[in-house]
Amino acid sequence: MFRRSIYKTPAQLRSMVEPGLITAAALDAVAPLIRPGVTTLELDTAANRTILDRGAESNFQLVRGYRHTLCVSVNEEVVHGIPGDRVLEAGDIVSVDGGAQYQGWNGDSARTFIVPGDADAEIVARRTELSRVTEGSMWAGIAAMASVSHIGDIGAAIQGFIEDQGPSAVSGETYGILREYVGHGIGRKMHEAPSVFNYRTPDPGAEIKPGLVLAIEPMVTAGGEATFVEDDDWTVSTVDGSDGSHWEHSVAVHDGGIWVLTAADGGAAGLAPFGVTPTPIA
Ligand code: MG
Ligand code: MG
Repeated sequence: MFRRSIYKTPAQLRSMVEPGLITAAALDAVAPLIRPGVTTLELDTAANRTILDRGAESNFQLVRGYRHTLCVSVNEEVVHGIPGDRVLEAGDIVSVDGGAQYQGWNGDSARTFIVPGDADAEIVARRTELSRVTEGSMWAGIAAMASVSHIGDIGAAIQGFIEDQGPSAVSGETYGILREYVGHGIGRKMHEAPSVFNYRTPDPGAEIKPGLVLAIEPMVTAGGEATFVEDDDWTVSTVDGSDGSHWEHSVAVHDGGIWVLTAADGGAAGLAPFGVTPTPIA
């Protein structure tokens, strides 16, 4: 059986810049809408409008059986929440995942938000910290791509960052990393080989070298790692009811270095604490 190389040509990498930026714009459109009283479907509508306005289409809608542009996962939901009539409340932790396909190439990105407004301060502090740790672990994994040799080293960097945080300063809980859901290659399809585990594995995995494009997406809980799929057949929630957070970027390795395709600044701000400077794709 013919297997397409997981490494893309420089021209193919250039084709992935625009879908990455459109994906970022779709999440930018969602961000200001995160407030009490908004429904998760309203977020979906705003993201879809942005993607269509840029001449692209939602790649989530191309997934068999899925009709929405985003996955919106609230509180104990970690990933794959279906937008609908659920109304966001102050203090909710909301993970928003979306992607655009443009001229046959894909972007995929997720961010976690805390709904502003009048809410229990301790809960808000706990959720803010969970999101910060999850986002930090994503940047640690992305930063590793600039220097490590194999994909397995990315998972080690993600897990290492989370472990280095120790237990939650607010709740004392140890963070959990979802095991059944992983990052992935991305290109002509939103989900391509190879898998990118968010934890240490015995297998070093494929070599990191120019042409590799990966979606780095840690899914972290403020408690246990066990999850189940809700009756809607999509939503992934924690068994122990602990909160979840999901952050994701699509990242290219090219001859000049790394570039975060789904960040308008190529990841410069997020990578700075790790001493990594992204380089635009020439
Ligand atoms: Mg995603
Ligand atoms: Mg993904």
